[in-house]
Amino acid sequence: MKITAVETHVCHARMRNWIFVKVLTDQAGLWGWGEATLEWHTRAVVGAVEDLAPLIVGEDPTRIEHLWQLMFRQHFWHGNGIVRGTAISGIDIALWDILGKVHGVPCHKLWGGPVRDYIRTYCHLGGGRMEDMYELESADAKRFAELAARAVDEGFTAMKTMAVPETMPLEGLLPIQYAEACVRAMREAVGDRIDLMVDCHARPSPRMGVLFAKALEPYGLYWLEEPCWPECMDAIADVQRAVRTPIATGERLVGQHAFRELFEKRAASVIQPDITHCGGLSEARRIAAMAEAYRVAMAPHNPQGPVSTAASLEFGFATPSYIICEAVHLDVPWRADVVSEGFVVEREGRTVRPNTRPGLGIEINEGEVKKHPFQQELPQRTFYPDGSVGDW
Ligand SMILES: [Mg+2]
Repeated sequence: MKITAVETHVCHARMRNWIFVKVLTDQAGLWGWGEATLEWHTRAVVGAVEDLAPLIVGEDPTRIEHLWQLMFRQHFWHGNGIVRGTAISGIDIALWDILGKVHGVPCHKLWGGPVRDYIRTYCHLGGGRMEDMYELESADAKRFAELAARAVDEGFTAMKTMAVPETMPLEGLLPIQYAEACVRAMREAVGDRIDLMVDCHARPSPRMGVLFAKALEPYGLYWLEEPCWPECMDAIADVQRAVRTPIATGERLVGQHAFRELFEKRAASVIQPDITHCGGLSEARRIAAMAEAYRVAMAPHNPQGPVSTAASLEFGFATPSYIICEAVHLDVPWRADVVSEGFVVEREGRTVRPNTRPGLGIEINEGEVKKHPFQQELPQRTFYPDGSVGDW
């Protein structure tokens, strides 16, 4: 069996362009789907997939580890940057889909079989509608509470919000008070049985990160995410040591070596590798082995498209340290038209039962994808009040 082509299919989904990767083989009807979505880098990733294709076309698609090594190490430049790492990830996910189809089993059975009966999911505030996640005013605590209550009505038992505002490296009391008011309002709206997560989006400086973490500590967050830049791993570790709240990070890290630093510094209690960026399912499994050794929880980053979600779920059903799956369901109204999925989401509790179809259990409707061709992503530019550049 040989790989005959590697295709990219771009599908514009409002905030991001989903990049689906299709690896074709010389066996009739046998192909695999992956995803390599990277906001604001769509053309670069499509080009990176084109650059990688000559390394693997003509090769046996079932030699996944061998092909991964080729893609990561060949032609001198390692695949540890975000663009090439994402391209490798998209292809790697598609290769696992093919291998599952070859053996007629879901991917999680290739990795030792299911380790749990179901996977819990959590939503973004607003279900993935970008205005409700990224454009809420932090002064509007009431709106945070309304959306949190709505998520509970929709069956979710956990949700994530961006209650920490954009802040300069040092600011006074106001942003801290805003964040605290939003989280307090949400906690009062949903009660103690619902898990709340706050994503700082690496907006704070290390010191502001500690101040936000301390202020939010009494509200029992399930986790506090990216309290400062991923380049400052020592500072993230300092935040983790300053509070009891579990700190989560890792969505911008590519490769096991970046995660090795995170583990060695005891920087986080929850790691969030993005399976579509970190090196695919192959690398995510290596990272999971390290996480297991450190007894750190895994909750892969997954705000992208449906292949990413299917990959995260297959991974979760075979990974003991996996705790919860990020899920967006209201980002675009036609999400379900683009994909057919093999797993079932229970409305009550928003838990997912395992996929029983081969591979990732999904099929992408290429005709529907063509209805949403590439568009430039909306600019998300952030400036502080004095005009200087901030972090989105
Ligand atoms: Mg995040």
